Amino acid sequence: MAAIARSEQGPQQRVVAAISTPSGAAPIASSVAGVRALQRAVGNRATGRVLAQRRVLARRSPHSDKDLLAMMQKFRKKNDHLTEAEQNKIFWSIKKATDSDEVAWKFFDYYSGYLGAGHKIKKWEGEELAGMRAKTFLANTKPDDDTYIDPAVLLLPDESLGPLLLHEFAHTAHHTNVLGNSDYEEGEAYGVEYFYAERTGDSARMPKIVNIITNAGARWGRQQEKATKENFRVTYVLMKELAKLTSAGSSTLPALAGKSAADGRLMSADFVSGFNSLSADLQTLWNHIKANLSSFGSSDVL
Ligand SMILES: [Zn+2]
Repeated sequence: MAAIARSEQGPQQRVVAAISTPSGAAPIASSVAGVRALQRAVGNRATGRVLAQRRVLARRSPHSDKDLLAMMQKFRKKNDHLTEAEQNKIFWSIKKATDSDEVAWKFFDYYSGYLGAGHKIKKWEGEELAGMRAKTFLANTKPDDDTYIDPAVLLLPDESLGPLLLHEFAHTAHHTNVLGNSDYEEGEAYGVEYFYAERTGDSARMPKIVNIITNAGARWGRQQEKATKENFRVTYVLMKELAKLTSAGSSTLPALAGKSAADGRLMSADFVSGFNSLSADLQTLWNHIKANLSSFGSSDVL
């Protein structure tokens, strides 16, 4: 994926680089004097555009494979209660499911944190583990909190573990679930898991997820059924459309007009990690898919 990142950054970087100091060492707009010189050379409006592009680039470039490996080292330090083999298992399952994409970087960033802050992936033990097994829970994640897992999930094949952990990661951005009022957000978590299960080829898990969503009313209550199913469907379609954008480099969807492969990668990561704080772009895409769901036909899930 690093190669895609580099090529996607190309055109905008060239625009900035073309208006650079004679030495070529740094773009001319990097200092006050530089901005004034740029204004004289290309005018106010063009200068504004150049500066805006620089800001966008600084904030919106996907992380490289090297960045991901550096983040993995932080993850190891933060989660040193896990064995190295367990850390590796988590790392490879996420890397495979996401194709090392921006979602992987966001995942390990979340479970690494800064200094004393940040979150961990913890294993249930003893009586707590027995209690969770009695309730057939494999994992649990409260919003903006740690993820707890049954240690047995670390024995699952990578193609199952990765989507399961990404399901839990999606929950980190959900509402605090008071009396089951936010159960409909399971639709997004299962939509994320289904999308990645399809990618990893976990054909045993996919029909199970469809079954869970089909019976959403019985599982989470009738008043949650419609929103749960809708969240599942819109999430799956949205992830598919962003994946198509990422691989093709452009999209025919009006909501994704002008977006690049890099945008597809960044928007996927923002979506999985920020369901309740969507960017304007993601909200527009979500609304478009929701309003036109029947046109995104897929016999299995729609
Ligand atoms: Zn869940």
